[in-house]
Amino acid sequence: MPHRLVLLGPPASGKGTQGRRLAEDLGLAYLSTGALLRSAVEQGTELGKQAAPVLERGEYLSDELMCSIMGEWLGRQKGGWVLDGFPRSITQTDFLSAWLADKSLKLDAAILLEVPLDELLIRLGNRIECPECRWSGRKQDLNGADRCPECGGVPAPRADDTPTNFRSRLAEYEENTLPVVSRYEQEGLLHRFDATRGPDEGAKRLLELVKSLKSHG
Ligand SMILES: [Zn+2]
Repeated sequence: MPHRLVLLGPPASGKGTQGRRLAEDLGLAYLSTGALLRSAVEQGTELGKQAAPVLERGEYLSDELMCSIMGEWLGRQKGGWVLDGFPRSITQTDFLSAWLADKSLKLDAAILLEVPLDELLIRLGNRIECPECRWSGRKQDLNGADRCPECGGVPAPRADDTPTNFRSRLAEYEENTLPVVSRYEQEGLLHRFDATRGPDEGAKRLLELVKSLKSHG
């Protein structure tokens, strides 16, 4: 069974929702770099203070800072994981490959969530997140309630989810992350996944896909 996975996809492609469910179904640790940073900002940690102005502009942290945060997080993990939001550039991809090689580990798969642009824009306006536990989903996932299904907190639209920020993140994705997609494709690790279905059907099919893959050790 694969146990070291990377999720790739444009902003609002569902990496958070799908990544979290996939990790849960496979018994793996899940890391959303976005949720990690937003939580650091709210807690006012040193990292949060560095990240706050960058995130407010809808931009991403420098490769150097992200790699150091990730090295720390990866080093704490005892088992496998699903990464959402990392690697986001070739520099970060090189860092992850070197980190794994150093420990004689291998990435099992990189899964690309594919969603057309017009649907991404609809999803963006519909996206909410729980400030307590970082559950994320769509307004309709609350089934008319206003409470987080996981912890009872009150989910709200993400402060950084403005159309301007979305455009900026999408441009950043095309410039920096599409080369990562090509890299994993060359390495034979890339699997494309049609992520246009609803979250339940999507999760089921994604789990089927991942279970059909081999572990590289
Ligand atoms: Zn919650």
